[in-house]
Amino acid sequence: MQIKLWGVRGSLPSPMMPSEIEGRVRECITEFLRRGNKSPDQVDEFLRSLTPEKWGGYGGNTACIQVSTPKETVLIDGGSGLRRAGEALSDGPLGRGQGEAHLFFTHFHWDHLIGLPFFTPLFIPGNQIHFYAVQDDLEQAIRTLFKKPYFPVPFERLGAELFFHKLEPRTPRRLGTLSLTPYWLDHPDPCWGYKIQSENKTFSYCVDTECTRSSAADLGADLPLYQGVDLMVFDAQYTILDAAERVNWGHAAAAFGLDIAMREGIKRVYFVHHDPAASDARIAEAETQARDYYLSQVQTSKSTGRKLHEVEWSFAQEGALLKL
Ligand SMILES: [Zn+2]
Ligand SMILES: [Zn+2]
Repeated sequence: MQIKLWGVRGSLPSPMMPSEIEGRVRECITEFLRRGNKSPDQVDEFLRSLTPEKWGGYGGNTACIQVSTPKETVLIDGGSGLRRAGEALSDGPLGRGQGEAHLFFTHFHWDHLIGLPFFTPLFIPGNQIHFYAVQDDLEQAIRTLFKKPYFPVPFERLGAELFFHKLEPRTPRRLGTLSLTPYWLDHPDPCWGYKIQSENKTFSYCVDTECTRSSAADLGADLPLYQGVDLMVFDAQYTILDAAERVNWGHAAAAFGLDIAMREGIKRVYFVHHDPAASDARIAEAETQARDYYLSQVQTSKSTGRKLHEVEWSFAQEGALLKL
């Protein structure tokens, strides 16, 4: 299974302003020279040595990921990252009106839908586009996007053939070798994360969630979302302090996901849904804070004998390709 992160920003697309890019380029050139580099041959190694906040940043597009196996491809959420996903998929049968796309939705907040009108396979006759969600109002939510005065092309004029599929909570939906099971997340409007399994690999997508339920007892029927998981993508919009101040805003801090991952033995975690108001430097600070928290927990578990699993994790950048 491969997971491509087309959008990792939360709530609102947040591209860098030209003045920010100019400042970033200036700092990079200055640092390149300060280290005594002189040749263009040294550029690649220099760039590889820089962290995201020093160079390309974390990315500005909102929620969209692509899960692929050799036989199947599904997309989860249609945030602004979906536009580039559509462009990439259009190199294949979807670009010729001979393809199928499968789009699963966690919920219908704008940051998870806004890319859909720019998903070009929708406009090509011959394509079959399947939409999936637990929510009863799936079709209504999609129809509303293609309506004047919000968008010039009405729903009835979309070229592709559209299908709407209702998912049952905590019940696997099979698609070839893939199985996708929705579990309830903690968010102000109904929101469902997905546990995705293919052959012997398991991936969990846990966005958007405030993670108000974190103990095994509180999670109850939704605990399996975090069990037997090889790789998890988790909401880390806030620092711990932000999360404490923003009760009921629907988002978590990385520490909350780390607690669950360490307890349940999740092997790898990538944190997404970065705060649209946060600079890359601030996101990097949040990652440092999470690192301090994680190391303190590991240390405590060693000194007290409390069993915690070590986890490989980082904050994710847009465009990352995760393999498992
Ligand atoms: Zn969101
Ligand atoms: Zn949301």
